[in-house]
Amino acid sequence: MKLTFHGAAKTVTGSCTLLQIGKLKILVDCGLWQGSEEIESRNWLPFGFPPSTIDYLILTHAHLDHCGLIPSLVREGFAGEILCTEPTRDLARLILTDSAQLQEEEATVLSKKERRRGGGPVRPLYEIEDVLVSLDRFGDPIPLHKTIDLAKGVKLQLRDAGHVLGAAFVHLRVTEGRKRPKRLIFSGDLGNTDKLLTPDPAEPEPADGVILESTYGDRQHRSMRDSIAELRQALLLTFARGGNVLIPSFALERSQELLAVLFQLYKRKELPGCQIFLDSPLAISATKVFRRYSECLKPEEAQALAHSPNAFDFPALRFVRSSEESKAINAIASHAIIIAGSGMCTGGRILHHLKHQLWRPECSVVFVGYQAEGTLGRKLIEGARTVRIFGEEVAVRAQIWTINGFSAHADQSGLLRFLTHAQKPEKIFLVHGEMPSLVALKQAIQTKLGRTAHIADWKETVEI
Ligand SMILES: [Zn+2]
Ligand SMILES: [Zn+2]
Repeated sequence: MKLTFHGAAKTVTGSCTLLQIGKLKILVDCGLWQGSEEIESRNWLPFGFPPSTIDYLILTHAHLDHCGLIPSLVREGFAGEILCTEPTRDLARLILTDSAQLQEEEATVLSKKERRRGGGPVRPLYEIEDVLVSLDRFGDPIPLHKTIDLAKGVKLQLRDAGHVLGAAFVHLRVTEGRKRPKRLIFSGDLGNTDKLLTPDPAEPEPADGVILESTYGDRQHRSMRDSIAELRQALLLTFARGGNVLIPSFALERSQELLAVLFQLYKRKELPGCQIFLDSPLAISATKVFRRYSECLKPEEAQALAHSPNAFDFPALRFVRSSEESKAINAIASHAIIIAGSGMCTGGRILHHLKHQLWRPECSVVFVGYQAEGTLGRKLIEGARTVRIFGEEVAVRAQIWTINGFSAHADQSGLLRFLTHAQKPEKIFLVHGEMPSLVALKQAIQTKLGRTAHIADWKETVEI
């Protein structure tokens, strides 16, 4: 049995791991590279394996850094089956369609520039048609905890990763010949505990090997209670100064969790006179999927959603679909909370809002999710004094807040707890993290669990 790390090795994005068991080839995730220009250029490289030889693609969840290269994989010949939970299938449809639209728009802009220079048209990474063909490759959804036979001696089970709606970690039980069965876990992205909507991660079974995400391997999150208090403080201080609050947010999960938090503050009458805008057609559509699968949320939240008002429907909240409505928000000077994508400020409507509000000292920008190296979001949290937006230099005078307690990812304690439940497996491979997180997590695994973890390298193959 062999593992090759084709993505998210010594970086966070581009998740893609190939497992070969004899002739059977299983890919776990096929994500988009996001971040610096160097990282994003990898989206255009050929896959490190012939896509036509892959039998199954197991998709842990619908975030773009896990599903975003599926259309390229299918276009390059993948004809196997995509296995995931039902909410992940519905969310991946939305996320991939949106991604293709962005790719096409970007290619149109670049083509215009190229033509002016006398060049030819620029092709998008993939198009809507590629997404439509990809959707045909999704097999019947896999219910959590149900054991599925993938091939002789290979059994699959998905369990709740508590990361975003539909997210799962992967259990594989592999029996090769007369050898003792080996149990492998791919963590995908593991969730933080104490979120308002999504339940905590399920416990894994004992395993021989774990491929573990390491996003926040070097830190502990503040509690949800403290994080809500910090957000409240950010909002009230900003409104007292006469400004607005921008919250760059991932359309999937962060936005819905934020709405749940803001609804709590609204119910306690702590947000007088404020207007909340969910300015993201993608987040609005994802919110509908949350309603459809409310049985996957915490039971008390599922019940609350059946009544009005609720986290997704209360008087201060407005869903903004059209770009005209989005532009109209610019006319509001104060008491607006604007939640818009993209989460790492790499594109989308948040850029327009940043251009209009970032230079205003009375405003605030609140980051509630991971900001990869090389993104505009990362520059802002690292204290940039000016940034370039749409080719224009914009001064950063707004107050910048980072509230990691709202993170959808487990912190170091959560990751160690996961390994402890898996009975401190013999082989641990660390992926999906930047070097400081990987190194800190490796050290913590050594000192606290007495195990040696290996930091996976890009394109590295290991025998297990
Ligand atoms: Zn994720
Ligand atoms: Zn991820």
